[in-house]
Amino acid sequence: MPTKPAKPKKPNHGSARDPRRARLMPPAQAEAFIRALAVANPAPETELTYSDPFTLLVAVVLSAQATDAAVNRCTPALFAAAPTPEKMAALGADGVAPYIRTIGLWQAKARNVAALAQALVEKHAGEVPGEREALEALPGVGRKTANVVLNVAFGQHTMAVDTHIFRLGNRCGLAPGKTPREVEDMLVKRCPPDLLRDAHHWLILHGRYVCKARAPECWRCVARAHCNYRDKVLAPPV
Ligand code: SF4
Repeated sequence: MPTKPAKPKKPNHGSARDPRRARLMPPAQAEAFIRALAVANPAPETELTYSDPFTLLVAVVLSAQATDAAVNRCTPALFAAAPTPEKMAALGADGVAPYIRTIGLWQAKARNVAALAQALVEKHAGEVPGEREALEALPGVGRKTANVVLNVAFGQHTMAVDTHIFRLGNRCGLAPGKTPREVEDMLVKRCPPDLLRDAHHWLILHGRYVCKARAPECWRCVARAHCNYRDKVLAPPV
């Protein structure tokens, strides 16, 4: 019996294949977009639980391809057992693993966390360095992780582009780019200097909770008036 041809899949809103993607916002509109997010949430913070630069660094490494909520469920016990690089290095990968088994890529992450703790002890006197080059030389630390640590722990005006910011930048015309680095560079160029430090929080939170991957919730978006996305989503019927 002939089978029905599969329906072509609709691209996710704002994905690279989505014809509804927006044109680039002019600079004044980009500023208005970010200021609207700022007004709605004047004191944004990371949702990861941490107490110092070291626990922040470990939490960010663990959060790759895992939710902050999932990371926050394992880190209290891990940080109680190993609150310092010295103790984490002594725990080793086999000792770290049981604490983080519930998050994705836990085996590789256990190895990286133990190795980065060891590197901090050997090369940085047990301190987290505040320079990009030194951070990115640590096991499991890439540009995005370094950007989060430099921003949150050291107050630098960096922009960590995760999947949410990458989608949002492309979808609404704020900072289109083919790679996270292109989106990062454009956002750094377009963000008003007084908002740059907090902008990555606003954009992550907005992408996570409002401008969601499968369907943006445009009807409740505080930046809707400044967004160039062509197919804004209406409120579902009640
Ligand atoms: S209106 Fe808001 S939620 Fe909708 S696409 Fe634009 S930024 Fe995203």
